[in-house]
Amino acid sequence: MTEALRELSARLAEVSDLERAARVLGWDQQTMMPPGGAAARAEQLATLGRIAHERFTAPEIGRLLERLRPHEEALPPDSDEACLIRVARRDYEKAVRVPAELRAEMLRAASLGHQAWVDARAASDFPGFLPHLQRNVDLALRYVECFEPAGEPYDVLLDDYEEGATTAEVRAVFEQLKDGLLPLVASVGERGGGPDPLRGPFPVDTQRRVIDAVLARLGFDPGSWRLDVAAHPFATTFAVSDVRLTTRYGEGDLSALFGAMHEFGHGLYERSVSPELERTPLAGGVSLGLHESQSRLWENLVGRGRPFCRWLFPLVREAFPDALRDLDEDGFYRGINRIVPSLIRVDADEVTYCLHVILRFELELELMNGTIALRELPEAWNARMLEYLGVDVPDDARGVLQDVHWSGGTFGYFPTYALGTIMSVQIWEQAQARIPDLDAQLEAGEVGELREWLRDGLHVHGRKFTPQETLERLVGGPLDAGPYLAYLTRKLDGLYAVA
Ligand code: ZN
Repeated sequence: MTEALRELSARLAEVSDLERAARVLGWDQQTMMPPGGAAARAEQLATLGRIAHERFTAPEIGRLLERLRPHEEALPPDSDEACLIRVARRDYEKAVRVPAELRAEMLRAASLGHQAWVDARAASDFPGFLPHLQRNVDLALRYVECFEPAGEPYDVLLDDYEEGATTAEVRAVFEQLKDGLLPLVASVGERGGGPDPLRGPFPVDTQRRVIDAVLARLGFDPGSWRLDVAAHPFATTFAVSDVRLTTRYGEGDLSALFGAMHEFGHGLYERSVSPELERTPLAGGVSLGLHESQSRLWENLVGRGRPFCRWLFPLVREAFPDALRDLDEDGFYRGINRIVPSLIRVDADEVTYCLHVILRFELELELMNGTIALRELPEAWNARMLEYLGVDVPDDARGVLQDVHWSGGTFGYFPTYALGTIMSVQIWEQAQARIPDLDAQLEAGEVGELREWLRDGLHVHGRKFTPQETLERLVGGPLDAGPYLAYLTRKLDGLYAVA
């Protein structure tokens, strides 16, 4: 390692430490902190974020990156060192465009917005949230102005979560999705969902025991993982060996279980990044789309798949003998795959899920292009819910206020949920080809080989390659919605015999 690289690495490690410390504060805010901590926490996060930003954008980092150009060119392009220099340079060139004060202001507004959102959602009070939303939108637009004019302003926001993706590409993929999904949803609607066989009650402490057992089977080990409760479930990591998952419980359904499997997928990705990359900008998932491909894979393709049900059902039935008295394995499979257009994105079934995402993407585009006034947002939301899903939104808590993202100013994030869902099926088909007896393994609750295949093909690389390169390496081609739509059609055929 050259002297310059040693110095760059030391500086980047310090920035990484500051960012991970901020994650601890953010995790605490959403899991443990009493509301009284909100104002001080916003200042703490803004201060830490500003210091991290200042350290990362220091001129010395720019000089080191310049000095390292010849070294980088002499290295094999996929070596850890070459990737580190390349990714650090890209991050640096983006970060230096953003004034530290703007960065701090965005973090402060996000933190205050979060508490305002928690209160507004509880009271279904959109007007109470509106000033915070306005502030976040204004700051996002100021952020966009820091960059060269892109094809569309939204490109700048999208790039922070899905490097290299453009609004035009996403719009095209989403049009294809809509064309495929709307007829599927209509065909399901005509058949009706029938009564829900999984209504509970499912006592929360028993759910917690079931989740512990399932996660332990998947690879959660208490030496490196924690599971806590949050209003809006998420996963975060403070180190490769320190993974935090959250879920939320309701007695009336088993969504906490599938939510926990979802967050496990996120956690496993970060847990399996090469320890060599720790304390570098490469330690983490390459994009939110690929991150979501992992959570959706464990939640749906494993968790809601027919083979894993064989292992899962006896465990769940034993835990809830009264609630599941009249159910067999087949009925349980149908119950956890019930396709019913509904209000809440995170609880949505596999068929309707992406329509929730497309709705948000379309509204975000209008917000950023200034073609919709913020106060009109609830009305626009409700109209589109009716159009796409045939669902009447009874109140803003279950409508426009349901998601945490806009409270934190994260615009451009939502599309990655659908992109990841598409990728999850591409990756799953590859896993099935590479692990011929995967179904038999899942029936026995064995996921070790799947986990290793994902680790070696995806997780271990962290952010070494671009999202597009990473996907190509894993599945041999670019993003393609075809396999996902075909998978849904097959799944519905099995569930409902849709023609
Ligand atoms: Zn997720």
